[in-house]
Amino acid sequence: MSIVENIKDVMINIAKAQSQRKNSENEKVTLVAVTKNHGVPAIKEALDAGILAIGENRVQEARMKFQEIGNCVQWHLIGHLQTNKVKQAIPLFDLIHSVDSENLALEINRIAEKHKKRQKVLLQLNISGETSKFGINPTQLPKMGRFISELEYVELAGLMTIAPNFEQIESTRPLFREMYQLYMELKTMNLQNTNINYLSMGMTNDYRVAIEEGANLIRVGTGIFGQREY
Ligand SMILES: *Cc1c(COP(=O)(O)O)cnc(C)c1O
Repeated sequence: MSIVENIKDVMINIAKAQSQRKNSENEKVTLVAVTKNHGVPAIKEALDAGILAIGENRVQEARMKFQEIGNCVQWHLIGHLQTNKVKQAIPLFDLIHSVDSENLALEINRIAEKHKKRQKVLLQLNISGETSKFGINPTQLPKMGRFISELEYVELAGLMTIAPNFEQIESTRPLFREMYQLYMELKTMNLQNTNINYLSMGMTNDYRVAIEEGANLIRVGTGIFGQREY
């Protein structure tokens, strides 16, 4: 199937999953097309098919593509961000999904100030506790939320997680449900300087379940572009 057809399929699945929601039924879902390891022609096809946001894992790769594509689309950084890459990341990305330490938040604040930009970020949570995964422990969420809310040039916009690669997709459901609860708790903290609107969870295998449980930002790569070649 072509990229355009794949996107149509994903859109249909999104609508179906939205109709199964128990919470936040009418809330819109933004599809982030994950373009890592795919070239500019594939990205352009996705843009022609109506994609409004693309997700990249690595700053360097995104930079090269940005030179050709520019800011006709939202750029999301979904991969881990090292502090020494923040300098390059700030001018590039509309939303950074992967903030997972005070140090990283401080560095984003420092560089964003130089660009006179309020950088929108999500806090990445390690909801499964897998040691292979980045992200803060959910128990640290209130403290991290307060910490970021005090940074003038960082705008906390919500939460992100990556679910484990379970054989049974349904096994992700309790984790996504817990994420939604944490997201609602963060909203009700009413932290100054924040704008909590995004719950980023769900990839090709599990985005349907994630949406049913309240995701409003999903990150789909393989389901749009096919298998990646590394
Ligand atoms: C690669 C990646 C995705 C997309 O994964 P697919 O299974 O190809 O849809 C989503 N989120 C993150 C953080 C990723 O690194």
